[in-house]
Amino acid sequence: MLCEWIDHQLFAVKDGAVLFGVDQGSLFFIDELTRDALSRWNIRPTLELDDVPMADREILEGLRDARFLAPSGARHRLETPEFDIAAIPLSTMVLEVAQDCNLACSYCYAQGGSYGRAVRLLEPETARQAVRKLVDDSGDKETVTLVIFGGEPLLNMAAVTAAVEEAHNLSREKGKRVFVSLTTNGTLLNPDIIEFLHQKRIAVAVSLDGPADLHDANRPDLNGYGSYTTITGNLTGLLQGATAAVAARVTLTPEQWPRIEEVFFHLLELGFHEVGIAPVSPVRRELLPNAEQEEALLQGFSALSRIFLKAAQANRLLPFTNLIDLLARLHLGQTKSVSCGAGYGYLAVDTEGGFYVCHRLVGDESFRVGTLDEGADPAEIRRALDSLTCGKQEMCSSCWARTLCSGGCHYENHLRENQLGLAPGGSCDFIRRWFQLGIEVYAELRRSGADEFLQRLGKRVKC
Ligand code: SF4
Ligand code: SF4
Repeated sequence: MLCEWIDHQLFAVKDGAVLFGVDQGSLFFIDELTRDALSRWNIRPTLELDDVPMADREILEGLRDARFLAPSGARHRLETPEFDIAAIPLSTMVLEVAQDCNLACSYCYAQGGSYGRAVRLLEPETARQAVRKLVDDSGDKETVTLVIFGGEPLLNMAAVTAAVEEAHNLSREKGKRVFVSLTTNGTLLNPDIIEFLHQKRIAVAVSLDGPADLHDANRPDLNGYGSYTTITGNLTGLLQGATAAVAARVTLTPEQWPRIEEVFFHLLELGFHEVGIAPVSPVRRELLPNAEQEEALLQGFSALSRIFLKAAQANRLLPFTNLIDLLARLHLGQTKSVSCGAGYGYLAVDTEGGFYVCHRLVGDESFRVGTLDEGADPAEIRRALDSLTCGKQEMCSSCWARTLCSGGCHYENHLRENQLGLAPGGSCDFIRRWFQLGIEVYAELRRSGADEFLQRLGKRVKC
């Protein structure tokens, strides 16, 4: 039988190798014999299995059964599907309750929380309308997610309270679960707000960038004073008696990347339940990293991943959410045909009741796709997404990480390519190395029999 190879990538791991099936997101351990046979035969674009010497033929038949080889001509290249946006229910809404902020973070992508507009707060009635829209447009989804966001959302407790009340009322009326989370800079938390958050079981993400020197350099208040002491002073109450996860959202600038490990453990010591670390978006050219800094970022993630692995082998979960999310997806073999949910069931609403395809693109008219009164226009969503995804398809179609990455974050790409005028693909090396690291950790976990642990992670993935 004439066969051709299905796209795959081979990774050396401790005590062997794993083969990653790109389109199906599958991972297989292979022994030395298979690796040798593979290197002998996968240099040929097609091969006649019947002509292969028996010793290798059996191995290649095994690879064919595992879908790394397909009958010639039967191999389908995965095209990006054309989703019918009008048919996709709304599942996540990011509600900008305050386009205003009491901090002046050095890397803010939202121009101090205003998104380049006049400072403005969401009317409580508009907050209620938005939540109703989320539930009404959610089709047969049993659970929807409301993310209360800003600027700094706690500057507008009237709208926060209105949105949460509406979410609870609608949950009862419609029999749907409205999962509510709130992202805050943590400076305005007080006992009343904390009690409200606890009582309503709201998951809270606090933006805190690590130890005081590092955090304060990134996140000063409007008078230039650091915000670390205020935030950590408020944390005790938030963490004590928490009824939902309290996560730290960390953003680090390139010169801070060598301190990733220290940052992570500092935040764990403060009592956070989860820690997610994001390299800063280059909202200014000065925030673009050099090669050495990029290496430090990878080394930092790698060091944390090794610690994660050791803990996992002892059945303990280190709450490093970057890696947890990746391992969970690898375990489920979950592939992506689009990079994220933006526009596909995920929309942001600004303080004027305008819909945007993503919260980070709020304020930019080219990504405004409707209003709460008129609804989000599927044709406008398609137009906005097409403008964000053009130009990269060819590069991505030959990339082994395409079904894990699927083009990367639209906002990051827009920022780099359209606003900074950089060539596409500047972060691809890092992206691929991060996925490779995840695959290596995953392989070691499987090797050490941590299947139950991985199953627990798999359950965390939001479909
Ligand atoms: S790593 Fe780069 S080339 Fe590969 S899929 Fe992602 S954006 Fe595309
Ligand atoms: S475009 Fe980027 S920031 Fe926006 S939802 Fe997608 S991944 Fe997230």
